[in-house]
Amino acid sequence: MILMIRMAGGIIPYLLMGGIALLGGLVQSRLKSKFKKYSKLYLKNGLSGKEIAEKMLADNGITDVKVISTPGMLTDHYDPRNKTVNLSEGVYGERNAAAAAVAAHECGHALQHAFGYKWLQMRSKLVPAVQISSRMSQFMLIGGIFVLQIFKSPLILLLGIALFAGTVVFSLVTLPVEYDASNRALAWLDKKGGLTYEEHDGAADALKWAARTYVVSAIGSIITLLYYVSIYLNRR
Ligand SMILES: [Zn+2]
Repeated sequence: MILMIRMAGGIIPYLLMGGIALLGGLVQSRLKSKFKKYSKLYLKNGLSGKEIAEKMLADNGITDVKVISTPGMLTDHYDPRNKTVNLSEGVYGERNAAAAAVAAHECGHALQHAFGYKWLQMRSKLVPAVQISSRMSQFMLIGGIFVLQIFKSPLILLLGIALFAGTVVFSLVTLPVEYDASNRALAWLDKKGGLTYEEHDGAADALKWAARTYVVSAIGSIITLLYYVSIYLNRR
């Protein structure tokens, strides 16, 4: 493994990083166009994102989670601290397949919280540490290369790598959390969401592309980590 990373010096890390940035852009634009498409697929049952969310929570016996509106676009999230499903303007009051997908997905996180899903618990525990380490690692990685070049000491770079490794672990733990939330959403939409086949397929497609953005960013963080490790291993 170490030999492989050593050999990956030179142009390869840059090609990988360029490739993953390109892939990230492609997946983002695909996701955008999917959401645009399914935003025009109006639900036959006439339910809004808010109503979908409230129904999904109630059907799962969850009574202590509130569904509220939050400003902005793509700002949808579940907040475990005050047990709120926060839906953006384009989801809260809208009655289409994309809104249903997002609303149900965020409720998927509320279900994970209520039923003690272990990957969500682990992710929540990592949040405060990662917020600090991801910011500090940026400075230390750049500064570390500088110190390595000038003073021939790899210490700062190694510390930066260690901190950044925490960010990589976080992006990997995020994957099961996101996929599981979408699976819970689709399971409920299928059984009790009252969607047509076309609407359900649209919601599933939108969620599939949303999940892919997390996969790409996890791969991107692994490649970035390997890049800095290769700088450390190839130092003179
Ligand atoms: Zn999510």
